[in-house]
Amino acid sequence: MSKEIIIIGGGQTAANASKTIKDSDKSYNLSIFSNEDYLPYERPPLSKQLLTSEKKIDDCLFYKEEFYNENNINFLPNTEVEKIDFKEKLIFTGDKNYSYNKLLIASGSKNRILNIEGLNQNEIFYLRNIDECKKIIDKVKKIKNILIVGGGFIGLEIASSMSKLEKNITLVESSAQLMGRIIPEEISRLVYEKHSQSGVKIFLNTSLKSARKKDQQYQINLSNNEKIEVDIIIVGIGALPNTDFLNSSDINIDNGVVTNEYCETSRDNVYAAGDVSNFFHPIYNSYMRLESWKHAQDHGINAGKNIINQKKNYEEIPWMWSDQYDLNLQLTGICNDYDQKVSRGNNLDEGIIFFFIKKNIIMGACGVSKGPKIGKDIRISGIKIKNQEIIDINKIIDKNIKLQKI
Ligand SMILES: Cc1cc2nc3c(=O)[nH]c(=O)nc-3n(C[C@H](O)[C@H](O)[C@H](O)COP(=O)(O)OP(=O)(O)OC[C@H]3O[C@@H](n4cnc5c(N)ncnc54)[C@H](O)[C@@H]3O)c2cc1C
Repeated sequence: MSKEIIIIGGGQTAANASKTIKDSDKSYNLSIFSNEDYLPYERPPLSKQLLTSEKKIDDCLFYKEEFYNENNINFLPNTEVEKIDFKEKLIFTGDKNYSYNKLLIASGSKNRILNIEGLNQNEIFYLRNIDECKKIIDKVKKIKNILIVGGGFIGLEIASSMSKLEKNITLVESSAQLMGRIIPEEISRLVYEKHSQSGVKIFLNTSLKSARKKDQQYQINLSNNEKIEVDIIIVGIGALPNTDFLNSSDINIDNGVVTNEYCETSRDNVYAAGDVSNFFHPIYNSYMRLESWKHAQDHGINAGKNIINQKKNYEEIPWMWSDQYDLNLQLTGICNDYDQKVSRGNNLDEGIIFFFIKKNIIMGACGVSKGPKIGKDIRISGIKIKNQEIIDINKIIDKNIKLQKI
């Protein structure tokens, strides 16, 4: 097989794909083009332990520099890929071009931007990478009053971290519940209560109407007619796949780069994986795009295998988690396609899990507990989903019966 492999993007997917390839055969020539200044690192700590300074950047790297040196991986930092010529098998960065035999697009996702009447973008903070995290850390050292726009996972995790730093926090969410409609309303309410008890002021069904900078503060008009004054505005309203550099290329894009169950795109020898790919899932028989740590790991490994012709289909069951205060929230499968919803457990100490069931098969499960107590049951649920097991609902809801025995 031809040996020149290029990976676009230096995140978690790239780290896992390159490790898989090099573990199999060190003789591949492998280059990673990253527009960031850092070796591939984990993003979950950005909104958690990195923001509170409980972790350092070095703690978040997947592999230290020696790994890339020893495996002869050519990691190019601060190098933006601007376009690709799929016919000639060339990628372009500035005035240079590079040829590939196999290409992996692992460019991840980017912040959804919020335009705020009265403010320039450079007044607004977002959180997706280390540089943005550092900017927030620097700013919050000197201030007290924080507005977070967006009640999704990242917005809520920022609120939890800022609360640890004893800041005054207001959070606005434009919809009627936190964390969107994929999370059961009951869990969303428990999380709301936890934030409120910790002093976070939450406005649901509320958006930001306009803002005005006065001295070092921002005077904010909210859609519910409340007026507040804050020192920083942090926006976390979701992400979009990073596909701008593909706009002039002929490749199938629809909510990300479309791939089949082998991470293959519509172009020969071009693969995509992780946050950027809208992939076909054979178990759910549909396309999905996921933004989760576990998916970036598994999809990266799968792409690596397929690139070096160890053909393997991808059918991992989605899984993700969020940590807020002492609460651990986990979600597996998909929770929006069901004919019955049942719950197991009824308090946060032992954990509460909601199961989304269709024709007596678990499609998804979502739970919350103090600490990761729900972890085992969520993992077992994932196995049952993968095996498409017919389950007895009366047993599932009985906390006295172990889930693995059902
Ligand atoms: C703040 C935060 C907290 C999170 N917390 C959790 C969590 O608690 N649990 C969970 O399951 N998941 C969490 N996630 C999601 C998880 O981290 C992502 O799903 C994962 O990082 C995706 O990996 P990736 O490699 O596909 O993309 P990314 O990690 O986004 O990496 C893509 C890289 O490609 C670069 N790039 C883009 N375009 C180009 C280009 N043209 N040229 C060169 N480089 C380019 C990007 O700058 C980036 O460095 C979190 C994400 C964030 C941002």
